Amino acid sequence: MKVLKFGGTSVGSVSSIKTLLEILKSEQNQGNSPVVVLSAMSGVTNLLLSMAENAASGNEFTAQLADLEKRHFDVVKALLDIQNQNPAYTRLKIHFNQLEELLQGVLTLRELTPKTRDQIVSYGERCSTLMISKIAAQHFKNALFVDASELIKTDSAFGNAKVNIELTELLIKSFQQENSDKLLFVTGFIAGNDAGQITTLGRGGSDYTAAIFGSALNAEEIQIWTDVNGMMTADPRMVKKAFPLEELSYTEAMELSYFGAKVIYPPTMIPAFLKKIPIVIKNTFEPAFAGTVIRHDCKASNLPIKGISSINNISILSLEGSGMVGKSGFSGRLFSLLAREQINIILITQSSSEHSITFAVQPHDIEKAKLLIEQEFELELLANKLEPLVVEQGQAILAIVGENMKQTPGVSGKLFHALGRNGVNVRAIAQGSSEYNISVIISATDLSKALNAVHDAFFIELTKTLHAFCLGTGNIGKTLFKQLQANSDFLQKNNGIQVKIAGISNTRKMVFNSDGLSLDNWEEELQGSMQTADLQEFINKMKEMNLPNCVFIDNTASPKPIAFYEQVFKANISVVTCNKIGNSASYSQYKNFRDTARRHGVDFFYETNVGAGLPIIRTLKDLMSSGDRVQRIEAILSGTISYIFNHFKGDANFHDVVKEAQEKGYTEPDPRDDLSGKDFMRKMLILARDAGYEMEEADVEIENMLPQACLDAQTVEEFYAALKAEDAYFANLKDKAQADKKVLRYIGKLENGKASITLQSVDESHPFYMLSGSDNIISFTTDRYKERPLVVKGPGAGAEVTAAGVFADLINIGAN
Ligand code: ADP
Ligand code: ASP
Ligand code: MG
Repeated sequence: MKVLKFGGTSVGSVSSIKTLLEILKSEQNQGNSPVVVLSAMSGVTNLLLSMAENAASGNEFTAQLADLEKRHFDVVKALLDIQNQNPAYTRLKIHFNQLEELLQGVLTLRELTPKTRDQIVSYGERCSTLMISKIAAQHFKNALFVDASELIKTDSAFGNAKVNIELTELLIKSFQQENSDKLLFVTGFIAGNDAGQITTLGRGGSDYTAAIFGSALNAEEIQIWTDVNGMMTADPRMVKKAFPLEELSYTEAMELSYFGAKVIYPPTMIPAFLKKIPIVIKNTFEPAFAGTVIRHDCKASNLPIKGISSINNISILSLEGSGMVGKSGFSGRLFSLLAREQINIILITQSSSEHSITFAVQPHDIEKAKLLIEQEFELELLANKLEPLVVEQGQAILAIVGENMKQTPGVSGKLFHALGRNGVNVRAIAQGSSEYNISVIISATDLSKALNAVHDAFFIELTKTLHAFCLGTGNIGKTLFKQLQANSDFLQKNNGIQVKIAGISNTRKMVFNSDGLSLDNWEEELQGSMQTADLQEFINKMKEMNLPNCVFIDNTASPKPIAFYEQVFKANISVVTCNKIGNSASYSQYKNFRDTARRHGVDFFYETNVGAGLPIIRTLKDLMSSGDRVQRIEAILSGTISYIFNHFKGDANFHDVVKEAQEKGYTEPDPRDDLSGKDFMRKMLILARDAGYEMEEADVEIENMLPQACLDAQTVEEFYAALKAEDAYFANLKDKAQADKKVLRYIGKLENGKASITLQSVDESHPFYMLSGSDNIISFTTDRYKERPLVVKGPGAGAEVTAAGVFADLINIGAN
């Protein structure tokens, strides 16, 4: 014998009721005659409660009543044969009339007692079950409507009644024996007290009804049919990547549902657990899917946790003071007071010094709880042995659950790392003594971000999603988007990382999308956007979206975004940039960026500040962090100047070579930024700082290779004219070097804390002699690499390699 329970959505429409019938037919074809437990049609319980509240506060409810009738009558019309419709209408109409009378009573008295509320709300299950049993009777000869309020006996705690299990089981057993040839359709959720009044088992209680019947009848299985593929790793409405779990233990299911996994009502597990009856959660809309089995002999799983659940919007109350220390009866007094007054405590944490207690309750209980405590502990408060109570609203609980936590070290570390990196402040922590659950209290506004970040951290076999906010749509920005698009499948497969571009801004427009902008037509989207670019707004919006795993990417060469980096770090968002200006301005700013990023547990990656995509910064960092020390750095770090000197041979004249370099995109918009050595200086400064030197711009000595007239030119055009006029000067430099079998090289050097950039002629024996194209080369002589330096060489300019470097930084952030 099986018990099959169908939830609100499974009985909520004509098509889902048809599916329900199919499921029952297939059971019957297998020779089974299950007990069927039904919920109210989806939304009906809420509707009934709202009608009751309306009546109590003197408001109209007739439109809602009409809506309720229509929903049921529509199903009758669609699914009952004509000759069966009238009797069904009549039976339902009797219910609706009774309901209307009840509501009128409430309206007249302006009073809604828990007892009346239960009676009103019971019509949801009574109507749906009555209606479906009639429909089923057309397909199954022996269908019988069962009003569970006559079989499930409870106390009189209306709204959340306690079941008298022994009596209930006897009643169910004998009823079933008398009707063993019938297919029973049982109302979920509702029960009755000794006086024959209707009670209810708590919201979601139809699941519990199914378990009570399952236990009484020693069912082989209790099936909970709902609208998702089982118990998932997190609430699928909040975490898109949540996936269904194959198996769970009763304790795990209990913990997950207690902390908010609505898919099953927590008390359901108790009768099933006591009799070791498996509970199977299945999807009415995908019946072939296996779903989740909750059972006692769960096979071992290698996941550290099974799932993450959450309760949105709770309130917390904190008590603090010396009056609690060592007073053994204190918490007893506190919590029995709250229990007496039926205030349900969701979670408690107490500091080990016993100096404070924090507990969480539903928002509607908080004021009452505060008042009761203030009355009970009046003397302690007056004597300052207790501080005034602190109430905080708008909080949420996030809980990770799983039996494996016990054997796996580092689980809480992982949880707090994920929360910390995303700037989620943890207000209080509680770990069940069973070690099956770690719960944290956080702000409700952070819940969605926290759930997704924690889900990404624990279910690493799934893809981790990075949300990138990108400034700059020039060469590098554009190329990055192209590369991301071309590599997105590979990235997901090999690195388990998915990058969503959640925001883009150039100097004119900005555009946002928390689901990720399309990489196919981001340009159109940006152009068509109604939002004008504004850096502060861009940052505000990024913070407001509060997405998990955010990265801010500065692909500009402008000084403007730099002023916002600190704000970005403070919002616990990592920064990736190819913009050198930030790191090469004042040393105090350079240091501040690192300190702020470190304090907020986020990354600051800028590999492309030096040598585009070449691994120069990373190499230096690895050397330094493994205890090596830099003795000397020699480098050619201007891809532009390399290109120019490599092409400035034979008959070529300097002016033409520079022009060509610019046309090929190797130079800054004003080539003087390259030729003046300023760009190179910035790179040397960043390297020197990363090598541990507190250096300022003025400390880098630069040998200027441009004649004064070129420097003085007002515009780029005038500069070219001046350069042409100086052709002889450059030709002379070149000829002299050629005569000595040498080549011109612009070389940066860092040694003994001094940095310089000089124009040198080097011969064949010099390692920098053979350098082609726009290549960069850097040699590190260190304590470890003393005899032969460590050399990094390769293309050090161009949009492709720079964007690739930004890309790599982004992926490295994803890996952290
Ligand atoms: P029913 O009406 O069938 O009883 P409920 O609405 O009570 O269904 O519960 C099913 C819903 O629970 C799902 O639609 C889903 O949105 C929500 N839910 C929340 N957390 C979880 C979870 N961890 N796993 C599955 N569903 C969940
Ligand atoms: N209809 C009730 C509710 O919505 C019981 C249930 O669906 O389980 O809470
Ligand atoms: Mg439910």
